[in-house]
Amino acid sequence: MYVAATTDIMYLKGVGPTRAKMLAKELSIQTYGDMATHFPSSYLDRTSFQLIEDFSGDQMPSVQVKGRFVTFTVQGEGAKRRLVGLFSDGRSTMEVIWFRRIEGIRKAYLPNTEYIIFGKPTLFKASGRWSMVHPEVDTPGSVATAAGGLRGVYPLTERLRNAGITSRTIFTWVQGVLGALLPSMTETLPPEIISRCRLMGLREAMATVHNPSSAKVLEQARYRLKFEELFYLQLNIQLYGRRRKAATEGYRFPRIGRYFNRFYSEMLPFPLTGAQKRVIKEIHADTITGRQMNRLVQGDVGSGKTLVALFAMLIALDNGKQACLMAPTEILATQHYETLHDLVAPLGINIRLLTGSTRRKERDIIDTQLRDGSLHILVGTHALIEEGVVFRELGLAVIDEQHRFGVAQRARLWKKNFIPPHVLVMTATPIPRTLAMTVYGDLDVSVIDELPPGRKPVTTLLRYEEQRMDVYRSIGAQLREGRQIYIVYPAIKENDKSELHSVEEGYEEIREIFRDYKVAMVHGALKPAEKEWQMKQFAEHKAHILVATTVIEVGVNVPNASVMVIENAERFGLSQLHQLRGRVGRGAAKSYCILMSKMKLASETRKRLEVMTSTTDGFVVAEADLKMRGPGDMEGTLQSGLPVELKVASLTHDGDIVAAARTAAGEVLDADPDLTSGLLRTEMRRRFDRAFDWGRIS
Ligand code: ADP
Ligand code: MG
Repeated sequence: MYVAATTDIMYLKGVGPTRAKMLAKELSIQTYGDMATHFPSSYLDRTSFQLIEDFSGDQMPSVQVKGRFVTFTVQGEGAKRRLVGLFSDGRSTMEVIWFRRIEGIRKAYLPNTEYIIFGKPTLFKASGRWSMVHPEVDTPGSVATAAGGLRGVYPLTERLRNAGITSRTIFTWVQGVLGALLPSMTETLPPEIISRCRLMGLREAMATVHNPSSAKVLEQARYRLKFEELFYLQLNIQLYGRRRKAATEGYRFPRIGRYFNRFYSEMLPFPLTGAQKRVIKEIHADTITGRQMNRLVQGDVGSGKTLVALFAMLIALDNGKQACLMAPTEILATQHYETLHDLVAPLGINIRLLTGSTRRKERDIIDTQLRDGSLHILVGTHALIEEGVVFRELGLAVIDEQHRFGVAQRARLWKKNFIPPHVLVMTATPIPRTLAMTVYGDLDVSVIDELPPGRKPVTTLLRYEEQRMDVYRSIGAQLREGRQIYIVYPAIKENDKSELHSVEEGYEEIREIFRDYKVAMVHGALKPAEKEWQMKQFAEHKAHILVATTVIEVGVNVPNASVMVIENAERFGLSQLHQLRGRVGRGAAKSYCILMSKMKLASETRKRLEVMTSTTDGFVVAEADLKMRGPGDMEGTLQSGLPVELKVASLTHDGDIVAAARTAAGEVLDADPDLTSGLLRTEMRRRFDRAFDWGRIS
């Protein structure tokens, strides 16, 4: 049979339709190509072994253990019938469990014979005993003859393991796929880049990464694959950026006029910070070039981004154009509308709110006024980018909390005019500058790196389970002073297996303890309307405590809230904790963020959380997040801004490769700005399929 990277994986020997379905569902592997790029997540030295007594932690990685089977017993009935082998490494024992091929396995493994067992151990809480389901079992002889010194450990899921699919199974399949694909696999990087950057060829890299003969060649192979991934990402991003800068005509806003000046000199409730002034100047400079502005304003929570956006909108108005501000949720949109309305209504500016729940009558007024130009500023949700919303002349679109609006959605805004509006994206996610340029390569970046004076920093405390009652007592004291409280949980529902606190349990417990107060609850499994309603209860002070999952992370402003409690804080990434903390400290009251955690923290985890108690600077937190290994939300946040998912490279750990790939992509575009190279065009099309807008390339 002729096979290609696009051939359905079910045709591979040993796979078939049933397993193919499972592979698609569990690992998104549908084709030969997908299998070839299912890379090991780690590697084990084939000649080193672990001791059972050294196993520890919630999430054990795969291990190799050398020892003997002591006994075999068949336990359970029906579907639960299983073969349990007691395996001893000479110092302690663990259970090895098979649900399938029970009789055959029982006969195959001899007592008093040395075996090497490879798999992922799990701890049974009830018995305190380690066990391994469907591991790979080898005799030392057969391992010794296997090629090379390192064995790849392939990502698997529980379901696949239970179906008898092991890391070895995947390895065998990958080898089968490579055998079929490698001979005709062609190089995906231009030869001059391969030689200039001294990269390993594609075929060798693919073969090596799945079956490395040494750590050194593995490193070279992984470098090559990461480089390739990042190179094309950079090419995509820079191409967008250059096209936009070179070709997209934009409005000129030369006038700083009546609205801007009157607001600045008469209405501004406080002086602007230096950083706010600088960023407003950067925005104005963009709007006089005659090209479209696409600017990202990064500023920590509370740095005053709204005011910067308002000044930008006033510039548009002074030049006879309209402006809009789009927020990710109805609550946020409403809050923005109210704030802005109070500020600008005295200037005679007509501002309105458009969301999914705007009434027909108001909607008609908006439609009419948008078209005749008498509506100056429209604030709203996604509703703003719908077809039916037609401006007379939209000069500036502001998007708040960008990470829910992708490139494609921004592009829809452009289509609202003959000349595309200037676009200002605001985010509170602190991303170190170099990385921001990588992720938002098609945007220019401004940073508001200064907080307004007189802010009382939020006091952050780390508290353990045994101090829970003290924490509740402090909450009670704050409630009696009329303050409101957030409590954030890592899970929605209770789950026997994990020890995580859940918002549903929390809701019951908190209602029980604080009987005199109203408790609202928000989590991702609620219907949007219910979520909005619950949030509103809290925002309007009809509820005193809000129990929630991280859905409240973005932008909500309830100045009266003075305490943020985060349950199982060890489970959150630092940047996420920082975002959550930013929900308090917005009013006059002294505010607190309480990180709750279980008693026994690994020292690394403790150090991570201590970053939070030691600084309130978002950029310091972000830098620490990049350096320390924790729940990888920085990587996740960064990747959510990308047009493709990265398979081997990490934006947070491969900074040097990111830089090298960026330079190389820049040089390629300098030499070939229209991307005429057939190889590059083919690869770009293959990789960015939908995400890549070919219409914008000449
Ligand atoms: P964010 O950057 O998180 O969106 P906001 O724009 O909501 O921050 O501003 C947070 C608070 O700080 C608001 O109450 C706002 O009025 C206030 N603020 C903004 N700029 C200044 C300033 N220069 N001086 C004092 N307070 C300011
Ligand atoms: Mg804001």
